[in-house]
Amino acid sequence: MLCTSRLHWPAWQRPTSWSSWRHFLHHISARGRLLQELGPWVAPSHQVWQWFYEASQDVVYLCPSTDQWFSCSRLTSSRTTRQSQTLYSSPQPCGAPSSVGIFLPTTVNTMANQSICSLHSALELVSAEHSTIPDLWSPETIPPEFFDMPTNYQRLIGPHPPSAFQCSEVAVALREDTELLGCSDGSYVDTTGQCYHGWILASEVRQTITEGSGPGHGHPDLLSSYRAELSGLLALVYMVYRISSYHGIHSGTFRIHCDNKSALAKAVTTAPVGITPFFTSDYDLIALIQLHFGLLPISAVGKWVKGHYSGDKKKYKHDLNDRVDQLATTAYGLLPREFQTKGAIPPPPGYRIRLLSQNGIITSKYYTMLSTAHHDQPLVEYIVKKTKWSPATFCTVDWAAHDRAFRRLSRFQHIGISKMIHNLSNTHRQNRLLYGHSDLCPGCRVNEETFEHVLQCSHAPTALVCTEALLVLDQSLTATATNKKVSEVMLGGFRDWLDPNFKSDRRSSPSTFGSVCPHDMLITAAYTHQFHTLGWYNFCLGRISSKWHEAVRACLTPRTPFHHLQWGSLLISALWKFIKTLWQHRNGLVHGSDAVANAKRILTGL
Ligand SMILES: [Zn+2]
Repeated sequence: MLCTSRLHWPAWQRPTSWSSWRHFLHHISARGRLLQELGPWVAPSHQVWQWFYEASQDVVYLCPSTDQWFSCSRLTSSRTTRQSQTLYSSPQPCGAPSSVGIFLPTTVNTMANQSICSLHSALELVSAEHSTIPDLWSPETIPPEFFDMPTNYQRLIGPHPPSAFQCSEVAVALREDTELLGCSDGSYVDTTGQCYHGWILASEVRQTITEGSGPGHGHPDLLSSYRAELSGLLALVYMVYRISSYHGIHSGTFRIHCDNKSALAKAVTTAPVGITPFFTSDYDLIALIQLHFGLLPISAVGKWVKGHYSGDKKKYKHDLNDRVDQLATTAYGLLPREFQTKGAIPPPPGYRIRLLSQNGIITSKYYTMLSTAHHDQPLVEYIVKKTKWSPATFCTVDWAAHDRAFRRLSRFQHIGISKMIHNLSNTHRQNRLLYGHSDLCPGCRVNEETFEHVLQCSHAPTALVCTEALLVLDQSLTATATNKKVSEVMLGGFRDWLDPNFKSDRRSSPSTFGSVCPHDMLITAAYTHQFHTLGWYNFCLGRISSKWHEAVRACLTPRTPFHHLQWGSLLISALWKFIKTLWQHRNGLVHGSDAVANAKRILTGL
């Protein structure tokens, strides 16, 4: 028997008088919530544990009764593989352990020869790393409360851990004061990809007891201020857990303040059962906070505080929030190198499964990251094959802007635009290939109708729609503050390509051609790249040359803000609008421009 219970189940009787129970519950609870909270659980657990794990010495103890102790020491394996399990020797009689270290109840799996092959409890997440990684902190700064602190937590707490005196102040505040207060805040700098948090422990009586700042870590694509907030919360909860465990504190109140409602709510409430919590953003940190929050031997609550409060009713919690905000924002540049944000970090103790991408752990956006890893390569190969580009040419397209423009579309628009840009629209060429129908253009009735022809058709009404759509495109370029010369050159080349009467022996060349002015040279380079390397057909499909934004940026007056992704994505959206206008016009020719014309067409066709 690994663990027995003191409960005499099923000796408990079922309640007999339901109405009395209902009456009683009505008085102590409102809508299922207690009117007065129960407070900390002080009675001993009903479970009687027999197995314990001592983390600092890595020994498993068996204790069938208080005067009988057996110890199991760890067997070292010669080679560690992914499949290898941690093995412990069979139980050997020993005296009662005198250790005051982390001593946790656990359950074990035993093998046929009575040796232990695995342990089951939260201990893996709590226990120290049994490694020889040197401390990040200098030995004289480590308080006894933080002895054997895993490197992950040292990094999280930052370069300045609380001193022994400050730790004892925290313990005294918990024992004597009304409440221990904690506050944390996070900051994320988009341009540098750095993410930091600030934390503070205080009480109304003692004011600031200890404070510090540390880095948030994670995959560079997944760092955010939310992740920084969670790192700060974890640092706080873990420190209070270690201090209260060391001092044997079992009463007291700890109130954590944070200005991020969502981070706080996720961190201090127990996650629902099932797989769903594992897919929430930054679950790795949330799980650790929840674990240590649950292990706190004191009463702990999380309370939201309004950030940057400047009203008349400013309270101490607002001061704390201002201070941690300052700590988090000033951490960048102040912290030593080993305490700066890192993309790839060793996993915390207890990690069993990790999804890795570019050597970083995926902690958020699982669906996007998996979908990208799964679909991107085949899509690239498909486009390279269709366009007959080299992989190097493929990389010269501004795909980041393309991605941004595509994300802006609704789900319904995604389908329509995807069909057009991947040449899947139902043209008459397709109808001939699939059904043997005529492939002639419904407008000019001269050429085979491909999607390219839909844009270049010489049919007078189509040419008119095309001219109008080009005007709209020009207006969109003006709206995005594009330099007039750039838009003239860009639209000039595109117009020449669209013009069915443009003689093939005539050379299309930009007005900047031959100029040695640096701006003009950049414009000519972008034009040449789009024309000769990528092609104007790909241009209107949204595959614009990355060289365009260099030209636009260069032509701006100094100190004008320019976001090339934003500019590129707006141009692509305008181009998609252009091809959509012409495709809708073509559909009007085939199916009728309105419901009446459509009905008439169907009736005549019968
Ligand atoms: Zn035509």
